[in-house]
Amino acid sequence: MAIIGFIGLGNMGGGMAANLVKAGHEVRAFDLSPPALAAAVAAGCQAVAGAAEAAAGADAVVTMLPAGKHVRQIYETALVGSAKAGTLLIDCSTIDIASARAVAAMAQAAGLEVVDAPVSGGIAAAQAGTLTFMVGGSADAFALSEPILAAMGRAVIHAGPTGAGQAAKICNNMLLGATMIATCEAFVLAQKLGLDPQTFYDISSKASGQSWSMTSYCPVAGVGPETPADRNFQGGFATALMLKDLKLAVEAAQGADASIPMAANAAALYQAFAGLAGGALDFSAIITLLDGRLTR
Ligand code: NAD
Repeated sequence: MAIIGFIGLGNMGGGMAANLVKAGHEVRAFDLSPPALAAAVAAGCQAVAGAAEAAAGADAVVTMLPAGKHVRQIYETALVGSAKAGTLLIDCSTIDIASARAVAAMAQAAGLEVVDAPVSGGIAAAQAGTLTFMVGGSADAFALSEPILAAMGRAVIHAGPTGAGQAAKICNNMLLGATMIATCEAFVLAQKLGLDPQTFYDISSKASGQSWSMTSYCPVAGVGPETPADRNFQGGFATALMLKDLKLAVEAAQGADASIPMAANAAALYQAFAGLAGGALDFSAIITLLDGRLTR
């Protein structure tokens, strides 16, 4: 079993580190938040005093941090100078592709192995060990990362070279944001045209308008499987995180000269929604902006 440093023990990282412990790894954990660190210790991790200590002597180091600037800072100030040659650095945060490539280049120049490995699946999947990992890096680095990631997820997919994991994550979530808004719009219009929401669901879930946003995450309470809509949009995938991912897509598209008008509109709508309702509600709550429950 491996010695694994783990930095960033928040909503996602806490459950992921606990699953590495359950798989028999020695996990050396660090977070700026004392309560997050205490929860990790209760789950069987060893607390260390800083990110550099988490990396020293480790076989692998996992980071699960809010954004690119945090990952760059930790790589620059702690990991690259402290990890021994050959250590595998795995960044599971969702970050911009430029930052993912920059930290990978820095790590490789210091003789370290590195992958970007963002996840699909929320807090419940992090706790249950059922995340999907989209991995960017060399074939060798992917092979090293696979058994470690498998302890935290049920699918580990090699997306391509460095940055490809982040590219897959950004494109997937841009699709999710746009289809959720389209699904909300369809339910709102269907109801205004006199259709019962359940009847519309029964038809569209078996017709060409079907999507994951409709059949697995229906934004209408009481329709389809249980979703955050049935809990007043508490829990689930926060609006602030969807907005973050859509902004990453817009930024990536600008850098790649790609036209993404649907995603750009989705980003603008989520920005407006977050301005009115805050960022904490589940992202499917955007239906309340479209159906007039949330006043503009
Ligand atoms: P979070 O804010 O709950 O956790 C981040 C943790 O990082 C916090 O505990 C914070 O104290 C710690 N941290 C920040 N800077 C640090 C530093 N310099 N040193 C040590 N610790 C530091 O966020 P989260 O929900 O766990 O998300 C983490 C990442 O996963 C994000 O990139 C997010 O976009 C991505 N993600 C989240 C979800 C989700 O449903 N929450 C789903 C998929 C992907």
